[in-house]
Amino acid sequence: MNVLSPRTLVMKFGGTSVGTPDAMAQTAEIIHRQRTLTPRLVVVTSALSGVTDILLSSATAAAHGDTTTYNQAVQTLRARHEAIIKSLIPDRSRQEEVKAEITLLILDFANLCQAISVLGEATPRALDAVASLGERMAVRLLAAVVDSAGTPAQYLEANRLIITDDHFQAAHPDFAATQIAARASLNPILDQGTVPIITGFIGATPQGVTTTLGRGGSDYTAAILGAVLPADEVWIWTDVDGVMTADPRIVPEARTIEELTYREVSELAYAGAKVLHPKTIRPVIEAGIGLRVLNTFNPEHPGTRLVAEKATPNGNVVKSVTAIRGLKLITVEGRGMLGVPGVAARTFSAIASTGTSVSLISQASSEQAICFAVPASSAEKVIAAIENEFYREIAGKDIDRVWATGEVVIVTVVGEGMRSTPGIAGKVFGALGERQINVIAIAQGSSEVSISFVLKAEDIRAAVQTLHERVISQ
Ligand code: ADP
Ligand code: ASP
Ligand code: MG
Repeated sequence: MNVLSPRTLVMKFGGTSVGTPDAMAQTAEIIHRQRTLTPRLVVVTSALSGVTDILLSSATAAAHGDTTTYNQAVQTLRARHEAIIKSLIPDRSRQEEVKAEITLLILDFANLCQAISVLGEATPRALDAVASLGERMAVRLLAAVVDSAGTPAQYLEANRLIITDDHFQAAHPDFAATQIAARASLNPILDQGTVPIITGFIGATPQGVTTTLGRGGSDYTAAILGAVLPADEVWIWTDVDGVMTADPRIVPEARTIEELTYREVSELAYAGAKVLHPKTIRPVIEAGIGLRVLNTFNPEHPGTRLVAEKATPNGNVVKSVTAIRGLKLITVEGRGMLGVPGVAARTFSAIASTGTSVSLISQASSEQAICFAVPASSAEKVIAAIENEFYREIAGKDIDRVWATGEVVIVTVVGEGMRSTPGIAGKVFGALGERQINVIAIAQGSSEVSISFVLKAEDIRAAVQTLHERVISQ
């Protein structure tokens, strides 16, 4: 990738890119090489792989009175970070310095978990305070490693840069306030030729209370910073060769897609392709910034380039297939529904009151049933809220029942060319039919860039593999 040298560049490294001494050494090498080509280089990093999960599960366990889990986590966190300190920071006094800083953050973690166990409750605000510690440890480590290797680097915590509302666990950035704060902090550092190494995932309210942008949100951090600086490009460094025709963990023969439109990648990200956080795309489009997805462990591979529009469609009409697991399909049904005003509106406001987001909706044209998908863990409370809203209609038998299926998945195929190519749906459902896979519900995205359908959870592998083989790899 080094032939390219944008003047201002944001590079984001995911958890696996910094998760072990070897990975972090590789990341430091990429930063070092790129710095020789790009005068204004900004780095965003995630926590070491698995660390955010450890932090959050410890806090949740503490809320249930379990103090063993977080005490064990203290040992794991110390060992993971110290292994990197030992192998990648040669200077002894520097080693001690970084170790002391990380020890302080681990102490914060233990204190927060202890407080949570006393209260018997982990509020979203407390969970954000705990979750933010992973990135706060990672930046100290990566900045020391990069700096020790000879590229001047300085760590920064994004709670001074990314200003958000107080929607803990999925905070929304205030772009205007963030632009002022981020430029004021970053420009002097960039002007003196130092590489700022910034925490992904976290922000803070105007009052300085730590928030997070949602799981996987470090990609979003990179996009936000890219937009406000502004940068010429944002590069997302991960553990695969870019955005692929399917999740390589499900389809080993999945291939890298050289070029995708923003629209396609948005659909893919919202439909479960974990490689890019869905919120990453919008700030980048609006600021007209280039976006790439690259592999830290194969840095010479060109990865995937995201473009506004593809001039001449070539290659496959359907570009990629993806899936979201862990859902249930809820159906509201009754022969009397036809006469009940505002059923859909009332259903969805009842769902909204539970704070649940709906991923797919389909209504039978007879208006006798509405069905939609929600996370399996929310199904019970959603049904209760709907039954509560319609208790009169249920008593009067206008609505017969509100029920949930067993666990389901939503599989989505994505490609811009689908809009102008007839017969894609037939091809997709033909392929599934031949494998005896039963489709429970269907929805075509209004943009006509995707088709989604609901399947039983156990059909996910067969469906994704079949579609990859029959619809994409031709
Ligand atoms: P990071 O920690 O770098 O942010 P993630 O684990 O969040 O990485 O995302 C990368 C992973 O996304 C890959 O390892 C891959 O298993 C998964 N993935 C799912 N769908 C796709 C896809 N269509 N293309 C590439 N990777 C995908
Ligand atoms: N560390 C955070 C998470 O695991 C953010 C990220 O990796 O993007 O969700
Ligand atoms: Mg990620």
